Amino acid sequence: MSFVFPPAATPGILVHGDAAGALFPVRRIYCVGRNYVEHAIEMGHSGREAPFFFMKPGDAVLPVASGTIGRMHYPTLSRSLHHELELVVAIGKGGRDIAAADALGHVWGYAVGLDMTRRDLQNEAKKIGRPWCIAKGFDESAPIGPLYRAAECALGPATRIALDVNGKPRQASTLGKLIWSVPEIIEHLSKAWALAPGDLIFTGTPEGVAAVAVGDRLSARIEGLGSLEVDIVAS
Ligand code: MN
Repeated sequence: MSFVFPPAATPGILVHGDAAGALFPVRRIYCVGRNYVEHAIEMGHSGREAPFFFMKPGDAVLPVASGTIGRMHYPTLSRSLHHELELVVAIGKGGRDIAAADALGHVWGYAVGLDMTRRDLQNEAKKIGRPWCIAKGFDESAPIGPLYRAAECALGPATRIALDVNGKPRQASTLGKLIWSVPEIIEHLSKAWALAPGDLIFTGTPEGVAAVAVGDRLSARIEGLGSLEVDIVAS
């Protein structure tokens, strides 16, 4: 088979502790909306809605290696770029209609991620019933740290998730506060789409989302998954 021009490179994420430097190839990025009660409430909802999903393009990832600081360009068209700190699940085995009880067998690994959001464009879209793509799926909108293999992760309800901006705490919660757990998310998601190896799932953000500016340093961490550091730079 040939293409009329060379196809785009497959986006890849670094794997923690992989000496050979092999990358996890990214296919799709699914995101869960309002998956922590306090965040749903801060966005004007009750926190008891069924899970819903939106997507980012696979090449929206901005992979950041351990011990390095990523550089995210402040996006165009927005004056309100918000951080959303999230646990990211990487799918290693595909399937459809996956039962929650079987779901963890489909997980390749986990990472710290940021669902960066053009909040002003999202608010406008909500008001007039337009899609969220422009608010959520822009270039570099998904900074992500190295993936940790599922077998080497010990995530639980008490696992802490936190984000500082310029050294000041902005978001802090625990994974036990997820409304829909990782297995439940996979069950719901795989009813709507056939999951495949390479898919990433951003599982939702706790309360405390807020704006960032050029010059800010974001420092995100989840216990056991290291940290993700990103500087916001001028475009
Ligand atoms: Mn989010």
